[in-house]
Amino acid sequence: MEIKKGIAVSPGISIAKALIIDSEDYRIPRRSIKVSQRADEIQRVRNAFKDAIGELTELEAAQGKAEGGKIKDIFAVHLRFLHDRSLRKKITDLVHSDLVTAEYAVSTILREIAAHFSKVKDAYISERAADIYDIERRLLIQLLDRKREDIEHLTEEVTIIARELSPIQTAGFDRNFVKGIASDAGGRTSHAAIVARSLGIPAVVALENLTESVRGGDTVIIDGNHGIVIVNPDDQTIRQYEEYEKEFAELEHKLDAIRGKPAVTRDGVKITLLGNIEFHDEAETVLQKGGQGIGLYRTEYLYLNRQSEPTEEEHYQAYAETVSVLQDRPVIIRTLDLGADKYTQRKRFAPEPNPFLGLRSIRFCLQNLTMFKTQLRAILRASVLGDVRIMFPLITNLHEVMQTKMILRDVMEDLDEESIAYNKDIPIGIMIETPSSALTAFSLARDVDFFSIGTNDLTQYTLAVDRGNELVAALYSSSDPAVLRLIRMVIQDAHKAQIDISVCGEMASEPEYIMLLLGMGIRTLSLTAPMIPEIKQMIRSVTMEHCNNVARKVLGMNSERQISNYLRAAARKILPEAF
Ligand code: PEP
Ligand code: MG
Repeated sequence: MEIKKGIAVSPGISIAKALIIDSEDYRIPRRSIKVSQRADEIQRVRNAFKDAIGELTELEAAQGKAEGGKIKDIFAVHLRFLHDRSLRKKITDLVHSDLVTAEYAVSTILREIAAHFSKVKDAYISERAADIYDIERRLLIQLLDRKREDIEHLTEEVTIIARELSPIQTAGFDRNFVKGIASDAGGRTSHAAIVARSLGIPAVVALENLTESVRGGDTVIIDGNHGIVIVNPDDQTIRQYEEYEKEFAELEHKLDAIRGKPAVTRDGVKITLLGNIEFHDEAETVLQKGGQGIGLYRTEYLYLNRQSEPTEEEHYQAYAETVSVLQDRPVIIRTLDLGADKYTQRKRFAPEPNPFLGLRSIRFCLQNLTMFKTQLRAILRASVLGDVRIMFPLITNLHEVMQTKMILRDVMEDLDEESIAYNKDIPIGIMIETPSSALTAFSLARDVDFFSIGTNDLTQYTLAVDRGNELVAALYSSSDPAVLRLIRMVIQDAHKAQIDISVCGEMASEPEYIMLLLGMGIRTLSLTAPMIPEIKQMIRSVTMEHCNNVARKVLGMNSERQISNYLRAAARKILPEAF
């Protein structure tokens, strides 16, 4: 039995056999195969080469027609490597002699070659190392995609164990069979964690080297409440956790009973609870859990799980279906927030050196106007079906707001010309998730109808801590006084300008922050659906006077540690069962 501690990102308990999936961007752990699996594994290597050659040949041909030149040359170099029989033989020989998986052999041999190339003094040859890494990645994608198919056809309950998961991989998990998730990498607000939470799958991340200690088929307990993973537990531990799992399910069941009750504090202040969704079919769950609308529809997921861009009609159908479920309740559609960890970097021809500070989100849309306008048309068309509002992500300055609104107006004019109906007064909001937008909120507020504070990114950018990097996960905290000061400033500026303000980052789904947010003046929270009952219970257990006191105390503190300890203790007193 081995106990590992990570970060709890999605609550609940699960006990199931491990299924290990690898990610193309990391070193593949050494894993042995049986002699009887040798032939199959060698065939997997051959298939991966064949498929990679097929894919590259197609890409090369397409480039030939379009731009030709440099890119075509690169593909040609890659193809030459892939056709090299001695390279393939080295890999299959390693599988044969060392009884290792195809992934491990591909990775080991190609990295050896790349390391050798990069040491050569001749610049032309040393630069070929990058090509070898690309080829490695290409082959691993082939090998891992086949595994992904296995994941799509699960027949028994499993715990997914991975070095790192992308949000879209996580979104594809079958809730009926994937009982728990554990990964080496990740942080509390990394997008894969957010998706696990919205699917209601218990998950623990930032386990650092878990993949090295688990083998496929091992029994694994995931304790998503405390961030604990137990590999090969003994019988007594299994019994304890089975009991705990039952108690937790009962608590969830009890909380569901408050679904129809209002989110109102003990002294009568009404709070609006909205849901965050990634896919339109989650809208139903938001209502089931007692949500009063959608406060954040992360529409980039429409784009992420496919090879081609969605058409206007596909966007429209997704929005129309969401609105038809919500009827006249608000649906805040956030425009595409692609980039950073929500862009499959391997799909980009030239991955960005620093994607979180790169061409992401609204910046990406403003440089890809055809794509952006397609989405805006669909949102506007859906705006006549219900209470649709539009929200722009990652705004950093007023110029971006102006530019974005101008494009929206262009699209409106196009629709006018085509006599297509839309709501001319559609409310326009922005996310406040960069320090620059928080610091200039007073001026941005004049040009928009509402703000929503994206505390996940706001925390990451204020503290300069990557939200998905387990190595700095301990430094990532929304309790930091710098983050809280910015949040308070934004709330005050929104109140002064008399525009709506909500919080839609993960802070809104964490019981310990609720009193503080209410005390700072927040009356609308948008959060992952499974957490709505618990947060509602918290709201129904407090008075606004108490919340104001908590906020006053916290804003007078100057250490993150002091604040988080205080908030946790204060929330524990109110709702002990949540901790
Ligand atoms: C945020 O940054 O807080 C947010 C809600 O947006 P996302 O998590 O999708 O980046
Ligand atoms: Mg964000």
